[in-house]
Amino acid sequence: MVLDFSKSVGDPMVEIGRLGLVEFCKKDKFESIEELKQFVEKLFTSYVFKTARTLNQIFSDNSKFTHNSSKNDLNKRYKNAIDYFESFLNQNNNGYCISCGTKDNLSNVEKMVFPLTTGDKNVNFTSNFSSNILMCKACMTSLFFAPINMKKVDWGKAFAISNNQEINIYWSENNIKMYQSNIVKNIDILPDSKINIFENFIYSTIEELQEEELFGDITFYLISNVDRNTKIELVHIYEKQIRFIYQVAPKFFKNELPTKQKDEWNYLIFKHAYKERKENGKKVKFENEIIDDKSYESTIKYFNPLIISFIQGKSILGFFKRNQSSWNLTKIYLKEIKGMREERLNVIKKVADNLQLFNEDDKTFYKKFVRPIEMTKSQTEFRENLRILMRKFLSKSDELLFTADEMVLYILPSGESWYETKDILLIALYEKMNLKEETIENLNEGDDENE
Ligand SMILES: [Zn+2]
Repeated sequence: MVLDFSKSVGDPMVEIGRLGLVEFCKKDKFESIEELKQFVEKLFTSYVFKTARTLNQIFSDNSKFTHNSSKNDLNKRYKNAIDYFESFLNQNNNGYCISCGTKDNLSNVEKMVFPLTTGDKNVNFTSNFSSNILMCKACMTSLFFAPINMKKVDWGKAFAISNNQEINIYWSENNIKMYQSNIVKNIDILPDSKINIFENFIYSTIEELQEEELFGDITFYLISNVDRNTKIELVHIYEKQIRFIYQVAPKFFKNELPTKQKDEWNYLIFKHAYKERKENGKKVKFENEIIDDKSYESTIKYFNPLIISFIQGKSILGFFKRNQSSWNLTKIYLKEIKGMREERLNVIKKVADNLQLFNEDDKTFYKKFVRPIEMTKSQTEFRENLRILMRKFLSKSDELLFTADEMVLYILPSGESWYETKDILLIALYEKMNLKEETIENLNEGDDENE
């Protein structure tokens, strides 16, 4: 009899377990059940002969794995667990595996024996069944390996599955290494990310992947394994988001803080990190931890609205505008993430460049050309403001600020957001000036008084 773990399975819980098993055993095919059992025994040893804290993170209080066995008699508990597992292996039911579709020779498994299932009505995929289901031996075994291929994040366990197998292998290698090193250190066996914000955890994972030059779409899952209020969060990351990070953030805060000139994106991330965070109920100040103690890596532990928006796939143009980010960074973002055409960007940039012809000082330039656009509240108003700029420009130049074609095809093409165009134009205009945020605020206040 051969057990084959070499093929991907659609169910994410089974799949993450399968990947963990393959990495744990360093092989994906087994000639006999006996051969597989050695590895399962090793795994169960780490599940049972550990502190109760670890066990309760893996199995529900109501789990058959821990129940019906003396809480204090670990040898008995271990024997029960192995007996359960064997009884499943020895079954031979006809039908189709609920997870991979394999026909016949199936186990009839009870929900509460598996790790990460709860007494509650369960949202954790495979375990989302009330009583018994039919599963093949490979899928059933895989589920027992799922916990060691996840990382603790905040209230749950996080895992990731990509369409790029190399990313899945990287993810599993990393976790199994951490699991094994935890056994040696005699601490909780489950890999711990030490990050309590799901989006930050995802961002930091992307950072690691780009150091390995690994790209692909990835779905991140965060699941709970408590007996009440079970929940799940899902975030899908597109390959383009990883490619953007690859271009703008060559390294994250591992050893030093970025300088604005050298590493604009990382500086933006740094700037938006909140000034304090909580750990074990205590407040930790950014100033003390990051600046004084030079613990730069911990920057990722702080709440960060820029990271949250980026990971959730929301537009971050507003961040660029408020921080007067460079055209270069904006352009990379618009091309990679928004898929914007190069020609369109060039035309908008040209409009901003052309306005330099007026050669005004920064404050006058801002009041005359930038502020009217900034204050625009509708597409009609925006169009009208562009026409006003055009008239002003014609008084100085023989050329047009933009042609009618450029207006229709590139500046405000139908179907594109006028608001986004406005932000892009403003970013290009801000780059022309050397004004501080506060100066702009003051200029705006002055205007209000004069009105
Ligand atoms: Zn199966």
